[in-house]
Amino acid sequence: MIKLEDTYKHKGQRKALVKLLREKGIQSEAVLEAINTLPRHFFFDSALASHAYEDKAFPIGEGQTISQPYTVAFQTELLNVKPGDKVLEIGTGSGYQGSILHLLGAEVHSIEYQAKLFERTKKFLGKLGIPLKFYFGDGSQGIPQQAPFDKIIVTAGAPIVPTSLLNQLKIGGILVIPVGDRKTQKMLKLTKQSATKIIKEEFNNFAFVPLLGKEGWV
Ligand code: SAM
Repeated sequence: MIKLEDTYKHKGQRKALVKLLREKGIQSEAVLEAINTLPRHFFFDSALASHAYEDKAFPIGEGQTISQPYTVAFQTELLNVKPGDKVLEIGTGSGYQGSILHLLGAEVHSIEYQAKLFERTKKFLGKLGIPLKFYFGDGSQGIPQQAPFDKIIVTAGAPIVPTSLLNQLKIGGILVIPVGDRKTQKMLKLTKQSATKIIKEEFNNFAFVPLLGKEGWV
């Protein structure tokens, strides 16, 4: 990780990134402000830090990636986070997406399946003073002991919508999840209207690393 220094140059690069995200169709001022506030270069390895404000996904080790800023913005906008929402994030990764949710006022529970990433990100966000609640394990099963959640966001590509996640959503809650094959997935927004009624909306294609685990890719 790089020295945690946020300069005028970085702030300028963030402003340009926010402008680009706006041009690409992101409308939520709260989401854009969170991206404008959070130094994405803090979440990068020093060798790649100069690329932190490009609208691209980058490797974070262990074969995983920090999602493209547009993807983070798109998923977060669909999630419609309100201050105080209890949000479950599947796939902690670098901690960037979870930190954006925290800046929006959510109580964030984040679960990661890769032991090394889990340890590293938990330690790093502790140092940054970002108080996510971290869990290690198979997020395709959710976190039953912490359910129900107002919102659930899955940041890895799933083969199906895991029933466990729908079960752990409050009535009125929202699940945002990319579903498809191992290479490309359609972004889905599922709103739980009642215990038996789910409204499904489909959006563009994205390319995520696979969601592993019992209700993911084995
Ligand atoms: N949200 C992350 C960020 O802001 O950097 C990016 C996530 S990365 C695209 C996908 C993450 O999902 C990886 O860290 C991967 O290890 C994790 N993952 C895959 N399957 C998982 C599972 N069943 N439970 C929890 N995490 C999982």
